[in-house]
Amino acid sequence: MEDANCIFCRIVSGKTQARIIGENDNALAFLDAFPLSVGHTLVIPKAHYSKVQDMNRTYSCAVFNLTCELAAILEKTVEVNASTIAIHNGKDAGQEVPHVHIHIVPRSVNDGAGSIHSIFTIRPKLSEEEMDLLSNKMKKSLTI
Ligand code: AMP
Ligand code: ZN
Repeated sequence: MEDANCIFCRIVSGKTQARIIGENDNALAFLDAFPLSVGHTLVIPKAHYSKVQDMNRTYSCAVFNLTCELAAILEKTVEVNASTIAIHNGKDAGQEVPHVHIHIVPRSVNDGAGSIHSIFTIRPKLSEEEMDLLSNKMKKSLTI
C-alpha cells in the first residue's frame, strides 16, 4: 500500500533518500531531515496509513517495537538519559506528513524544551461528573 505522492512512502520504496537507521518487516526508522535535537529519529509503518487508528496490529506492533528498541540505542548514542516520543495524529494536531510517524527526540535538562503539558496554555475545567461521563462513554465503545 503505497501513496505515490507521499514522501515517506517514497523513502520506504527507496525512491527518495534518507538516513535509514533500522527496520523490521513492517516498520522503518530514519533520521529526521530537520532535527529538533541531535539524533531526532522518525519511525514509520512500511505501508501508507495516515493515523494510528488506521493501522492493523501487524503494523502498530512493528512500529512500536522498533521505537522501543531504538529509543534505548538513540539515547546511548547521543549520550542523553531521556527522549520525548510523540505522534502528531492528524492535521489539527500539527501533522504535516500524512503518513504515521513516531518522533523520537533525544532530550536533556537544559535543551530549552518542555513537557507535553507545556504545549497547552489553555486548559478545560471539567467537573467530576463530566469526567465520569467522558470515561464511561469511551469505555462503552472500546472493543479490544
Ligand atoms: P510532522 O509535523 O509530525 O508531520 O513531522 C514531519 C517530520 O518529517 C518533520 O519533523 C520533518 O522534519 C520530517 N521530514 C519531512 N521530510 C523529510 C524527509 N524527506 N526525510 C526525513 N525527514 C523528513
Ligand atoms: Zn505514505
